[in-house]
Amino acid sequence: MTPPSGERPVAPDQQRLDELRGNLAAVHDRIGRGCDAAGRDPREVTLVVVTKYFPVSDVLLLHRLGVRDFGENRDQEAGEKFRAVRAALTEAGEDDLTLHFIGQLQSNKAGHVAGYADVVQSVDRSKIVGALDRGAHAADRRLRLLLQVSLDGDTARGGVLPEEAAHLADEVAGHELLSLKGVMAVAPLGADPDEAFARLREVGDGIRARHPDADWLSAGMSADLEAGLRHGATHLRVGTAILGSRPSLL
Ligand SMILES: *Cc1c(COP(=O)(O)O)cnc(C)c1O
Repeated sequence: MTPPSGERPVAPDQQRLDELRGNLAAVHDRIGRGCDAAGRDPREVTLVVVTKYFPVSDVLLLHRLGVRDFGENRDQEAGEKFRAVRAALTEAGEDDLTLHFIGQLQSNKAGHVAGYADVVQSVDRSKIVGALDRGAHAADRRLRLLLQVSLDGDTARGGVLPEEAAHLADEVAGHELLSLKGVMAVAPLGADPDEAFARLREVGDGIRARHPDADWLSAGMSADLEAGLRHGATHLRVGTAILGSRPSLL
């Protein structure tokens, strides 16, 4: 179709690709500078791009840009979206992504999540561990798990209390198809992220003393990734800084 004016049409996909490429480069730049400041090697940090609320097309563009780790927080959305993503990538012969589930889990949904997620970062109670284990067996899949730690003493928004984390860790480690990989937290609203992530690191160190393979620390989002890097984050979960603002919740 000929554009109405003499302007050269830019395909919307190309425009979005350029936007995502620029945002991704800016985030990698922040990670590079944050690692320099902390005396760390950026190669030990995995950027998980959080694509919740954004379409399959964005995930595929990010994949073209080299992103392989994606984060989602709602079961239904994540399941449907990544079924479509994986189908498209498999057709192209490049289904090589890792999907991290980072949202609050209900035990009746956990079995379903076990069917498509590779990593579940938001494990916070026994009931969820049992449900993930049953789901992993049903789907014949191995899952990597992180314990989500609540750092403000309030578990209403998810997370196990620091003093209960070691017990939950031992429980995960007792399941054949579940690998305990470490800990995750969201800095509490209004709290100093440095204090929060320092505390998370202590909890993580305590768990690692008993489970040496549990050496992942998932800390830091768009607003506080530098604080995460200062406290040893191996995984950052970044949405807004790469994809833009999410539509507000209805
Ligand atoms: C949405 C979400 C993120 C990403 O947050 P941004 O501020 O958009 O980078 C990270 N972690 C969790 C648990 C989330 O739900």
